[in-house]
Amino acid sequence: MGFFEQEPAGVEVQGQTLQCLVCGHDEFRRREALLNTAAATFFNFDWANKSGTCYVCARCGYIHWFLPQ
Ligand SMILES: [Zn+2]
Repeated sequence: MGFFEQEPAGVEVQGQTLQCLVCGHDEFRRREALLNTAAATFFNFDWANKSGTCYVCARCGYIHWFLPQ
């Protein structure tokens, strides 16, 4: 998978500033991740091959997942 490091930055979701659900921090590292698993690929589930976006809290590391709309 093509993970890459990036400087932490503020994130807006639906017009709201994203804050970490755990520690309340407001800077995150953005990651793209494929949602598929080995099993999903084997059974050729199309829905499982979309990519999702996750924001990793720069302070505590909690991952906030967002599925494609
Ligand atoms: Zn946090």
